[in-house]
Amino acid sequence: MNYPKVQIDLKKLKHNVETIVKLCKEKGIEVAGVTKVFCGNPEIAKVYIDGGVSYLADSRIENLIKLMEFNVPKILLRLPMISEADKVVEYTDISLNSELKTIKELSIVASEKGKKHKIILMVDLGDLREGYFYEDEIYEVVEEILNLKGVELLGIGTNLTCYGGVIPSQKNLGKLVKIGKNIEERFNIKPSIISGGNSSSLHLLLNDVKIQGINMLRLGESLVLGLETAYGNRIQDTYDDVFQLVAEIIEVKEKPSLPVGEIGKNAFGKIPRFEDKGIRKRMIVALGKQDIDFDTIVPEDSKVAILGGSSDHLILDGTDSEVDYKVGDKIKFKLSYGGILRAMTSEYIKKELI
Ligand SMILES: *Cc1c(COP(=O)(O)O)cnc(C)c1O
Repeated sequence: MNYPKVQIDLKKLKHNVETIVKLCKEKGIEVAGVTKVFCGNPEIAKVYIDGGVSYLADSRIENLIKLMEFNVPKILLRLPMISEADKVVEYTDISLNSELKTIKELSIVASEKGKKHKIILMVDLGDLREGYFYEDEIYEVVEEILNLKGVELLGIGTNLTCYGGVIPSQKNLGKLVKIGKNIEERFNIKPSIISGGNSSSLHLLLNDVKIQGINMLRLGESLVLGLETAYGNRIQDTYDDVFQLVAEIIEVKEKPSLPVGEIGKNAFGKIPRFEDKGIRKRMIVALGKQDIDFDTIVPEDSKVAILGGSSDHLILDGTDSEVDYKVGDKIKFKLSYGGILRAMTSEYIKKELI
């Protein structure tokens, strides 16, 4: 059984990584390659390394553990759980943090292991996910961190466009850089890393907006999809089809477009509505909502339309296509970031590296 499967084109991925790393290097920015969308698969992560990323980063410790073989610093992106402090210190070099209680625990654990764990303090510039929102709190916590034996303040960072949709700008990232300078002046230590966000910060580089002082970006979506995510623009000279979903057609029939009989709720508790388009060529694909969210896939054949489906069935309209699809044929889909995430996480979808 080989379908459905995600095909991952490693050559295309490498090209994307090289293109974006070069763009960043030109501006003095190092790239942390974010591996969470492919669950930290080491063979895919290796392409990040070959393409020139300086760090590997993931939200989950389970994924970072898979990447131990690679000789680059590993960053834990999600704020550590206190309950996982031991693993964080054991398997990662750097973690993003915003709670002193957690940092103290990391320090204790690291001291016990004779290690120094590196901390990037997160600053919330208005997106309202993680980080210190009030500037004074940052200086207070820096002072505390400097007294801890097991941790080292490596730098500061921010994350934008994740919850509040706030777009990175010269203004908000400028504030981050300024906070870095203030730390330097007040405490006589220079934060060596100023981590200016994720793929949504790339639009500044692409438009030549100066963001002097930012020296690291943590990139996932841009590498795998060739997208800057603030405005959703494609990045020149990148591929958007590194990850493709391939599934098999299990029924092809001419049928009416209106269901026959009294209409009640469908498998997901909704009353469906239909447009009468007459008799259509309908195709069922062995792929369902258990595998993927249909809003996150787009048929490669633009003349094929998604009609809907249920847990295990996807129904397509192939009437307008130039291809005469038959039972047993395979059909390909492009995936959005959410689609890649789900497909890579699903145990029902095979993964094929090409
Ligand atoms: C997921 C994540 C990233 C990467 O985001 P992309 O939009 O995929 O580039 C960066 N930083 C943090 C904290 C994240 O959780």
